[in-house]
Amino acid sequence: MLLPVLITVVASIVGHRLFAEIVTRHEESCWRKKTREYYSAVARQSAVVRASQQSSSRITQTVQNKPADLESVQNSDRWKGWRRVGVKSIVDESPDCRSFVFAPLDGKQFPRFLGGQSILVQLSDPSGKPVSRCYSLSSGPDEPHYRITVKRVPGGKLSNLLHDTIRVGDEVEIQSPRGRFHYSADLSAPLNLIAAGIGITPMVSMLFQSLSERLDREVNLFYQLRDASNAPFLAPLRRLADSLPETCRFRLHVWYSRPSAEDVGYDFETGRITAEKLLEQLGHEDGEFLLCGPNEFMTELASGLVVHGVNESKVKFESFGGKLTGPGAIAVPASDITQSTTTGQSFQVQFSGSEKTATWVSETQTLLDIAEQLEIPVTSGCRAGDCGACIQKLNRGSVRYLCEPECEVEPGDCVLCIAHPTSDVEIDA
Ligand SMILES: Cc1cc2nc3c(=O)[nH]c(=O)nc-3n(C[C@H](O)[C@H](O)[C@H](O)COP(=O)(O)OP(=O)(O)OC[C@H]3O[C@@H](n4cnc5c(N)ncnc54)[C@H](O)[C@@H]3O)c2cc1C
Repeated sequence: MLLPVLITVVASIVGHRLFAEIVTRHEESCWRKKTREYYSAVARQSAVVRASQQSSSRITQTVQNKPADLESVQNSDRWKGWRRVGVKSIVDESPDCRSFVFAPLDGKQFPRFLGGQSILVQLSDPSGKPVSRCYSLSSGPDEPHYRITVKRVPGGKLSNLLHDTIRVGDEVEIQSPRGRFHYSADLSAPLNLIAAGIGITPMVSMLFQSLSERLDREVNLFYQLRDASNAPFLAPLRRLADSLPETCRFRLHVWYSRPSAEDVGYDFETGRITAEKLLEQLGHEDGEFLLCGPNEFMTELASGLVVHGVNESKVKFESFGGKLTGPGAIAVPASDITQSTTTGQSFQVQFSGSEKTATWVSETQTLLDIAEQLEIPVTSGCRAGDCGACIQKLNRGSVRYLCEPECEVEPGDCVLCIAHPTSDVEIDA
């Protein structure tokens, strides 16, 4: 209750019209609690707007804000291994998507991250066994808290544990943000974010980062949904788009595959986004295209964009599950596999814990593929060497990686999802 009052007082002191309007809308909203994180982010954005309206030199400063560079962000205050954090708030974003906001418990602030990056979250299942999965951060990189937004997956372990058992005040374990799914350093080019359903989460953090770097960058967010009632973050995104000044070049393009009567009064397209229609709405093929959603959605759109003239190196996508390669795939590009493999070799792969053995012969099989074929219970997340969920002890032998692992790899560890054996190997799984 205190926050809206405080914001109203601040708004009346500074006399900022936009800010006051946001507060009014806020008060009108029946889901005040639900949008608190969102409005605090908008307030920060409007602080940038206010600063840029007051002084032209500040505009230049804001506009020339340097993008966070991957290396400095990653090496700064990143912690190693698991860290216990508190659940500060929980918000339902749609009937099956719930946000969890984490706060530090040890007094040390969370490191900044790059929009688009993800964290590993770990809980114990009812039998006490640890279960971990990867979740993209859906908060802005400048916020003091981390937020994840989790879709309940029927029959899924961790998503249901989070939805059913985690309450405000509980503690969970997380690892430092990491991942390569992020836009590049060229802030002058348009940024084209393309999401379907829960694939919106990395887009939200990239959008917040981009707005804090420069307001006049052209940012297009294409959002494919079934209908308005299953639409995480849609309402706050629309309010954000409405509340930003005209000079801000953020555009939201909504697509419903099955529109319902509930969404009258807002613009949307009906059907499924195709590369052709997307480029038609955009009016150009410039800038980067970052995609996240079901694998079929991404594969079709990514190849369609390339066919319609988008440079392959400008298309990136992130898969929330399953292996994905193709134009611009950041999950183990096909070309890397071909380059790093010596043909004609075969090695024995032994899983000591499960007492199973296979022969590695295929040029495109990773050690994770072999483990899964043998039905060895190993966890996996990104399948790109980012999240570290599939790390196992390498008891014997040697491996080479298809790309540099992003996760922390201790001596003797092996990141199965990006590993090819270079000798007979024994894995402790
Ligand atoms: C980089 C990255 C970012 C991600 N970001 C997000 C995010 O922002 N939000 C989000 O909601 N998710 C995200 N995910 C997905 C997330 O990591 C989990 O995969 C997801 O929550 C499902 O996990 P789960 O434990 O609930 O399901 P799991 O237990 O892993 O099960 C997944 C599916 O497999 C089925 N299944 C499980 N075991 C079996 C079996 N033995 N036989 C047959 N079927 C089975 C389940 O029924 C379910 O349909 C992300 C993933 C990655 C890699």
